[in-house]
Amino acid sequence: MVADVIKPNQDQLSRIFDRALANEELTPNDAIALLETQDPDAIAQLQTVADQLRRRQAGEVVTYVVNRNINFTNICEQHCSFCAFRRDANQDGAYWLDETTILQKTADAVAQGATEICMQGGLNPEAAIAGRSLPYYVRLVKAIKNAFPDVHLHAFSPQEVEFIARRDDLTFAEVIAALQEAGVGSMPGTAAEVLDDRVRAILCPEKIDSATWLNIIETAHRLGLPTTSTLLSGHIETVPQQVAHLDQIRQLQQRAAARGDRGITEFILLPFVGQFAPAPLRRRVGRDQPDLKDALKLMAVARIYLGQWIQNHQPSWVKLSLDGAATALTWGCNDLGGTLMEEHITSMAGAIGGTCQTVASLQGAIAAIGRPHAQRTTLYDLMA
Ligand code: SF4
Repeated sequence: MVADVIKPNQDQLSRIFDRALANEELTPNDAIALLETQDPDAIAQLQTVADQLRRRQAGEVVTYVVNRNINFTNICEQHCSFCAFRRDANQDGAYWLDETTILQKTADAVAQGATEICMQGGLNPEAAIAGRSLPYYVRLVKAIKNAFPDVHLHAFSPQEVEFIARRDDLTFAEVIAALQEAGVGSMPGTAAEVLDDRVRAILCPEKIDSATWLNIIETAHRLGLPTTSTLLSGHIETVPQQVAHLDQIRQLQQRAAARGDRGITEFILLPFVGQFAPAPLRRRVGRDQPDLKDALKLMAVARIYLGQWIQNHQPSWVKLSLDGAATALTWGCNDLGGTLMEEHITSMAGAIGGTCQTVASLQGAIAAIGRPHAQRTTLYDLMA
């Protein structure tokens, strides 16, 4: 439990920074104090410390991956209050890509040098073979891997794993193992939103609860499937809820490390974009685009809080724009994400960052802040 926080003075904040630089683990109350400070000097010091720890923990090189995002369907059984992407099957704008189209998109991506296909979609009850969901997903994975064996498939969120398991009456481990066997190489740590069930009751009441998200991610780790981790920030959540989320991610990774599992490869902050989100949540948040200052502060605190355990921190250029994401590289981040080639979920919510970056544009943004760049694989091996 996080105790009530007494607003710290500059001396107390300085002691927190000193402990962070001495590689001491911050407590949740330390992180809350850092996030709540409005003092410009303390915020400047926060940036300096996060950048220093980034250099120590991840080095100078900023990495990126050449990938294509394929959101294979937007037909979804759920109704998350922030989601501008989902459609009912009979609604205008509903789509469901067939295998041929997905293979064409993959071929096009590989021709452009992609090493990764990132694939997620809505929870489409029709996506089944003989009434069972898992065979549909397995066939899709095998079709891609048979045609493009060298492509890394970063696919299917914990929510999709639960959807398949629920529909086919399987355990999470059975679903994950079957997807892994078919060729999935890692799992996106999306659908985490904020790991607080009071927030989830408003944001995504039909989704898995926090404990189930953690359980599915941990099951993947135990089966040797690495995952990423995310936080959807800047909507209705409080600072203590943001910190409790970071704390659960840190504990998850500490458990993975204790078992000798790779666990979480990166932390990605996903600031909320509300422009075309459903009206009730949009009205409640009262802001259409992310607040860059808040996002930068949170990324700096995430670096300090998680960095010893999760080395790679990525801002979202889709949500913050490439300029905003490049700025985040000076607030503790060390990776600029992927080229994506196409993106639908956030762009349909009104994101200003676009849906595609070229390698040259990513490299240019990195060079503009005076840091070297390198292409990486999904699992953070540097490419020659
Ligand atoms: S966020 Fe995902 S699960 Fe929720 S409604 Fe949108 S597509 Fe469906």
